[in-house]
Amino acid sequence: MIVLFFLFFLYFNFAYSSEFPSINGCFCEGGIITGLISDDDQLKINNEKIMIFENGRFIYAFGRKSKNFIKLDINGEIKEFSVKKKKYKVENIKGLPRNKVEPSKKEIERIFIDRNLIKKAKEIGSKKKLFGKKFILPAEGRLSGVYGSQRILNSKPRSPHAGIDIAAKEGTQVVAPSSGIIKIVSKNMFFTGNTIIMDHGLGLISIFAHLKEISIKQGEYVQQGQKIGTIGMTGRATGPHLHWGVYLEKKSVDPFALVNFELD
Ligand SMILES: [Zn+2]
Repeated sequence: MIVLFFLFFLYFNFAYSSEFPSINGCFCEGGIITGLISDDDQLKINNEKIMIFENGRFIYAFGRKSKNFIKLDINGEIKEFSVKKKKYKVENIKGLPRNKVEPSKKEIERIFIDRNLIKKAKEIGSKKKLFGKKFILPAEGRLSGVYGSQRILNSKPRSPHAGIDIAAKEGTQVVAPSSGIIKIVSKNMFFTGNTIIMDHGLGLISIFAHLKEISIKQGEYVQQGQKIGTIGMTGRATGPHLHWGVYLEKKSVDPFALVNFELD
């Protein structure tokens, strides 16, 4: 009986490994996965049709809140994977200028303009994969904010933190965490101050906020490790720090899921 069970187990393991591609990345909240299938394969994740890029490449982000598992369906062949849940902390930040938490009517108009620009930047740009296997941290400093924290600013509940914060001296250099094309360079956005948005391809973008100087131009191709600016405290900031956010289209990604895990 045990032998039979073992053979049965072996058979299913082989059946799966022949049908399913190898998938890289973090199966976790805030995580991202990539894999390769055939160009003409159909892929659904949790019943949602997933876009297939050139050479059969796909990419998927779990978002800040995810189910305990995902269901991958390739041409009707289904496999489930578990997704690691995260515990998010509650962060209390005090001492922000009042208008940066409760903006005036005029400032709200400005915020809408910024928000629309950022929203547009989250649409898929390059359909080619520009990022490499592993991301690096864009600045050296103290980790002063983590991904996903519930934020209470001047005692008012606000959106969760969609990135990480690295605190360092004003003027500390900021480098590209991975290769990509500079999508947006914007001076003096209401919340994010001097801001760079970089396109890593396949809908994956990085946003760098509160910069002092910006040393690249829109449309420029930048390599991993290349200097793009310096740390500042422009926009909504209580001290000099870099805010680094990553998105796959509308879903926020934990930058550490790209620094600690390899993507293909
Ligand atoms: Zn931040």
